[in-house]
Amino acid sequence: MKIQRVAVIGAGMAGAACARQLADAGLDVTVFDKSRGLGGRMATRRAVLPQDASADQTLTFDHGAPWWVSSTSNFAEFLKTAEAQGAVVQWTPRMKGQSAHERAPSESQSWVAQPDMPGLVRWMLQGIAVHTGCTIGALHRQESGWELTGDGMPAASGFDAVAVAIPPAQAAALWAPHTADWTARAQAQHMSPCWTLMGVTDDPFNKPAAGATWDVLTPASGPLSLVVRQDGKPGRPAHAGQAHWVAHATVDWTEQHLESAPDGAMAALKAALESALGGALTWRHAVVHRWRYAQWSGAAPQSMPCWWDGSAGLGACGDYLGGGGVEGAWLSGGNLARAILG
Ligand SMILES: Cc1cc2nc3c(=O)[nH]c(=O)nc-3n(C[C@H](O)[C@H](O)[C@H](O)COP(=O)(O)OP(=O)(O)OC[C@H]3O[C@@H](n4cnc5c(N)ncnc54)[C@H](O)[C@@H]3O)c2cc1C
Repeated sequence: MKIQRVAVIGAGMAGAACARQLADAGLDVTVFDKSRGLGGRMATRRAVLPQDASADQTLTFDHGAPWWVSSTSNFAEFLKTAEAQGAVVQWTPRMKGQSAHERAPSESQSWVAQPDMPGLVRWMLQGIAVHTGCTIGALHRQESGWELTGDGMPAASGFDAVAVAIPPAQAAALWAPHTADWTARAQAQHMSPCWTLMGVTDDPFNKPAAGATWDVLTPASGPLSLVVRQDGKPGRPAHAGQAHWVAHATVDWTEQHLESAPDGAMAALKAALESALGGALTWRHAVVHRWRYAQWSGAAPQSMPCWWDGSAGLGACGDYLGGGGVEGAWLSGGNLARAILG
């Protein structure tokens, strides 16, 4: 059967990479995502402090992936094109930490999207039909093609193929009535969780003698694994006298406190940040976010960077199939597009 109409479920990096390649090949592509915005775990949250509301001083927190690296030539080439269009920039943060952190960006290889982390996915999905606020609850195979149903959905049927580009636990629920094999394989994937603190304080390095010499701090021990000075990232708002922090907890600490109330997690992470910085902070704003499925933590890449069942017109892509991270998601999404195109 010739595939012409494709539904892509998930507007993260994997779904965007898949949708872009299919649309560029002339297919009729529709993307659905349950969130209000795009980008998935390439996420940015906005805030306006009450005292700054009249001045419209919006703050941002990149509370998902803080950056990503590129290790393959195809991905590097894609990023160069995105850079030329202003959708990404390279960043070499000044690192500070007792231990070299495994995610520390190497020079000339770390990237951040512009003007926020979803900016790259928004750029990739230009000109493609995207429905946000749609949580797909079920896939139905009919004679006329696939039908998608769920919360907030417009009528969505007659698709020749469906690309499922969502984390494995959620994907398993969609596949359960259709493929026991994929369901079991998805359920076997381990995604590590992460509690993340987003905060604004008076700038502790405001005094000239104590000027900050770092953008990213990697504490030697938990509960925090990574502290990013958000207002030091390229293209992010910065306000005099303020410091904007995004601090990620370790996997161990998060797993131990996974079901903690947000207030409890926030108090612990604020204390941990003060301890990492060596003194009390004057807080102006703080919120936390719990990522139940933050990062794929498989030991080795899957044998196939995507799954595709041509007879059913059903496909899977995501970071967990492409080796993890933003690059893995991009590789997986592109592979699924090529499989669909045959
Ligand atoms: C705290 C944190 C730190 C990270 N650090 C790094 C890092 O340093 N470097 C790096 O490379 N990567 C990092 N990552 C991982 C990186 O963000 C992900 O690997 C990558 O963005 C995953 O892309 P994806 O498209 O596979 O999935 P996602 O980005 O999760 O996209 C899936 C999309 O599907 C949508 N969705 C889910 N269920 C449904 C449904 N039923 N119906 C409709 N839509 C649905 C979601 O809303 C989401 O938009 C980090 C992630 C987090 C959270």
